[in-house]
Amino acid sequence: MKKPTIGVLALQGAVREHLQMLERTGARGVALRYPAELHLCSALIIPGGESTTIGKLMIACGFLGEVRELVREGMPVYGTCAGLIMLASRLVDGDQPLLGLMDITARRNAYGRQVDSFEADLRIEGIEDDGRPFRAVFIRAPWIEEVGPAVKVLGEYRGRAVIAREDGMLVSAFHPELTRDDRIHRYFLRMVEGAEGQ
Ligand code: GLN
Repeated sequence: MKKPTIGVLALQGAVREHLQMLERTGARGVALRYPAELHLCSALIIPGGESTTIGKLMIACGFLGEVRELVREGMPVYGTCAGLIMLASRLVDGDQPLLGLMDITARRNAYGRQVDSFEADLRIEGIEDDGRPFRAVFIRAPWIEEVGPAVKVLGEYRGRAVIAREDGMLVSAFHPELTRDDRIHRYFLRMVEGAEGQ
C-alpha cells in the first residue's frame, strides 16, 4: 500500500518529534509552512506548543481558514496538547483564535502551574492492547472539560477525558510523540486509511 503523506503544522512547537514518529510508523511526514502544502497531504497533525501563538501564526500565515475547510471536507486531523486546544470549539477561559471544529470544551493549563509536567500510565481504547498501559507525557496540558454527543472519549486521567475522537478528528492532551510508544500514531494512521477508503 502507498505510504500516506501526513503534514505536521510547522509554525511552532514539537514538530520534529511527530515527523520522526510518523517515519517509524511507515508514513511520510512533511513539515508544513505554507497553506498550499496542505494539498500534498492526506491528513494533518497539529503539534503541541503554545496555542495562542499557534493560533496567531495560523491566521497570519493563512492556515486557519484553509485547515477548517479541509477538515470539514473530511481531512483527518490529530491535535496534541496545544493542537487539542486549537481544534476545540470552546475554552473554559479566555478568548483566542481557535479552529473550533470539534465539539469539546478545553481547559488550558488544567493541571496548574505547580505541576508543569508529569507522566501517567493510561488505558486507551482502540489502540493495540499489548498488555502495556500507555505512558503519557503531560506538559502544561489541557484537559477536556466537556464533550458533545458525537465525541467518543478514548481515555481518561483521574476522571478527566484526555484523549478523544469525533469522526476524523483525534485529540490528546498529552504528547505521544515524546515517547517511544507509537500506538496512538498507528491508531491515527488507521483513521487516515479508513478515510482514504471512503
Ligand atoms: N499550555 C499550552 C497552551 O495552552 C499547551 C502546552 C503544550 O502544548 N504542551 O497552549
